[in-house]
Amino acid sequence: MRNKNLKTLPQKLLSITGKTYQAYKKDFQNGMVTVGNVCSADCCFCSQKWNPPGLLQDLKRLLTLEEIKHFSNLYLKEVNGMGSAIHNNSGEFFLHPHALEILNLFAAANKIHNPIPLFTNGNELTEEIIKTCKKLGLYLSISLNSTNPEARTEIMGGCYGRNKNAIDSISKLDKYNANYCIWIVPLRRNLENGDLEHTIRGLRESKADNILIHLPGYTKYTSSQMVKELIISQKELRQFISDMRQKYKVKISFEIPTAGECFINILLTLSNLFKKRKCLGKKKKLFLCAQSVENVFPLVLQKMQIQKYAIRSVKSTVFGGSVECAGLLLVEDYIKAIADFLEKESQEKPDYVFLPRNSFDVNKEDLSMDSVMSIEDKYDVKLVMC
Ligand code: SF4
Repeated sequence: MRNKNLKTLPQKLLSITGKTYQAYKKDFQNGMVTVGNVCSADCCFCSQKWNPPGLLQDLKRLLTLEEIKHFSNLYLKEVNGMGSAIHNNSGEFFLHPHALEILNLFAAANKIHNPIPLFTNGNELTEEIIKTCKKLGLYLSISLNSTNPEARTEIMGGCYGRNKNAIDSISKLDKYNANYCIWIVPLRRNLENGDLEHTIRGLRESKADNILIHLPGYTKYTSSQMVKELIISQKELRQFISDMRQKYKVKISFEIPTAGECFINILLTLSNLFKKRKCLGKKKKLFLCAQSVENVFPLVLQKMQIQKYAIRSVKSTVFGGSVECAGLLLVEDYIKAIADFLEKESQEKPDYVFLPRNSFDVNKEDLSMDSVMSIEDKYDVKLVMC
């Protein structure tokens, strides 16, 4: 139901048009609230620098309050996440001059329900922001990276004072018992010069729910200088995390699930699906999986004793580089994989093609807003997203 506090400016009065308008509309439909792509940091690893050019929409300014009310009132049912986006480049939520007003409007319109993650670089956090987030039950997901202001400024750019504020905010978050976790994107230099360990040690006493280590990644557009900093293997990071747990008894985890966890997740999902749709058993099936699970996927199908199937792992041709996860695969990548399967390997056309759900939004569209249905139309196959 529309809230009378959120008066809607008609689309024709907005200066956002065309694909950019569609991208914000769709992000709000997905419950992802981003307020434009201006950021007070300039992280060297920021995906926005190295994404395929033109793939995501780039507004290059903050949305006005009227624009936010427009998208919210027309398209937002419920907030699922803030400060992050699907079809747009995102920025820093708290850089918006009306950030608190926006949060209070969403709360008044009953659009904030569960503990919702709000992604922030922490630069703009104040006691008032922290208290409001706590009151509204928001979960702050802070990209901290280093507790050394010099190192943080080097990694995340921006101004020294703001980086220092982000680090100092940890004690304020603890003072107000805020719900938060800390994200760290490690660079090769931080692993080797001890800054990463120093940071973890310094966070021992914090009340953060968790310190999450992100696997750094790069695309085919990332500069070679930067790639050197971003090549860190999963094995190396898992060992580092295990050492930190032992040494400092700190809550720290890796964002990437283990092979065992992936196996169980895929097994549960597919078992439920095959129980519900018994007819799938007799049909010819092609499973398309992300490269990140290409070793685990065949084991699940063997365990389930599935018949009449083929599996292909799908390479990210659009992002390239080290990208292996399903979330960054596009319709274009899946079409290439199916074409390869049918043409090069002279395989019979499958009845059903299985794709990872993570590649698509609520409208069944990929990051570039291409619909998954174009695969169905092109190959006359039935799609199953799971
Ligand atoms: S804080 Fe996020 S959006 Fe801002 S520069 Fe860093 S990675 Fe990019």
